[in-house]
Amino acid sequence: MSTANKSALFQKLPSTDELLRQPDMQALIECEGHSAVAESIRVVLARLRQEIGNGELDEKSLDLALGGLFAVVERQLRQSLGYSLLPLINATGVILHTNLGRAPLAVAALDHVCATASAYSNLEFDLATGERGRRDVHVDRLFRKLLDDDLLDARSPAAISTIVVNNNAAAVLLALNSLAEGGEVIVSRGELVEIGGSFRIPDVMSKSNATLREVGTTNRTRLADYETAINDRSRVLLRVHRSNFEITGFTEQAGLGEMVALARRRNLPLMEDLGSGALVDLHSVGIDGEPGVLDSLRAGVDIVTYSGDKLLGGPQAGLISGRADLVARMRSNSLFRALRVDKLTYAALEATLLAYVKRDHDAVPVLRMMRLSKDEIGRRAETLVAKVQTGQAKLAKLTMALCDGESVIGGGAAPSAVLPTRLIALTHIGLSADELSARLRANAPPVIARVEEGRVLLDLRTVFPEQDAPLTTVLASLT
Ligand SMILES: *Cc1c(COP(=O)(O)O)cnc(C)c1O
Repeated sequence: MSTANKSALFQKLPSTDELLRQPDMQALIECEGHSAVAESIRVVLARLRQEIGNGELDEKSLDLALGGLFAVVERQLRQSLGYSLLPLINATGVILHTNLGRAPLAVAALDHVCATASAYSNLEFDLATGERGRRDVHVDRLFRKLLDDDLLDARSPAAISTIVVNNNAAAVLLALNSLAEGGEVIVSRGELVEIGGSFRIPDVMSKSNATLREVGTTNRTRLADYETAINDRSRVLLRVHRSNFEITGFTEQAGLGEMVALARRRNLPLMEDLGSGALVDLHSVGIDGEPGVLDSLRAGVDIVTYSGDKLLGGPQAGLISGRADLVARMRSNSLFRALRVDKLTYAALEATLLAYVKRDHDAVPVLRMMRLSKDEIGRRAETLVAKVQTGQAKLAKLTMALCDGESVIGGGAAPSAVLPTRLIALTHIGLSADELSARLRANAPPVIARVEEGRVLLDLRTVFPEQDAPLTTVLASLT
């Protein structure tokens, strides 16, 4: 399109002021305020200007767009005044879905956040003395109960302490900086991992001002490799849980027990980045090879770091549990002040930990989801499909079939662990699998599904029972 034609189109665009004076815009201003409406008009006009500039509009299509301008401004306004962060239905069967907010919180955690954050609280106030208190006492006492164990033989429970920072990446940074700044950290080449969202052990190490001392090879690291690397600059022996991948085949890894013995012999702290760090034994739900926090402490690891919103099922947080003298060094590091968490996190974490103390594991959504049996999920799926099919025409466009499948833990935990489940497989006469899944995403609330081999798969393991009804409604609308 010529420049002359384009400028003719630009001339047709009304000004913001002209639009603001229109009667229907006036009505909108009454409800939503002048500045919000003016802002939406500006956004819509700017979009039209851009489309003209790109040659995407001719005279006819511009006239059409101008005719429907009010509706477009109104939609823009609703969008700009609405939330961007939305609750949704996770039908992927990935329990700790990093892109979908990892662990949903327990009801008790939400209640406790609400109660303590909508009023003042004793966050850093000692009610007994009336003096300044410490924010970590609220959860440290519960961690002591949970990690207090007769098997932690040589140590009294009071010798284990826990602090909370923003996330596990921050926990690793703070721990390494406190224990190894200016010195060396010995780690196996098979454990120099990258976790999603650009957490790379070597990068965190350099930010902590510790020098990485790599030992062994990608697939094999023996105890002797650690031992020969120890020198007078060594500060920490580090183990990193391979939380999102596995090395199989010709492999060797130093055992935890022998590493503990080596660390004691050479008087170096042994630190383990567990990543997920379960607080309950997961063997009962069929998940093997996912080390628990207690397993590591029992084995004699001095410091463990783990996330609050992975297998623990609480808020985003990084937890550092271990020898009280080492944790005290981290608490007095000025980095701790920069990485500490707010009252919302403490409240959600305290309530989540209390559920563990009371052994009320079903109160923690991720634990409940892990414990759901394939039969329970299958029964719910059958009920849901039957409900959608009532009222469905004989020649329905949407076909639903039940089939066996697998749910995964996700979130960088138990990379090979899967849980047997029943899936609802959807196909549609008029829509491809990608189109169908896009339609589900466009729903309010959005439904996120898996697409595999031309089918859309729904796994109710990660769908809350109260979400079955809105899920039924959206499926019924596609028949
Ligand atoms: C997930 C994970 C991290 C990062 O934890 P965030 O809480 O996401 O910061 C670090 N190390 C390991 C081994 C992990 O699995």
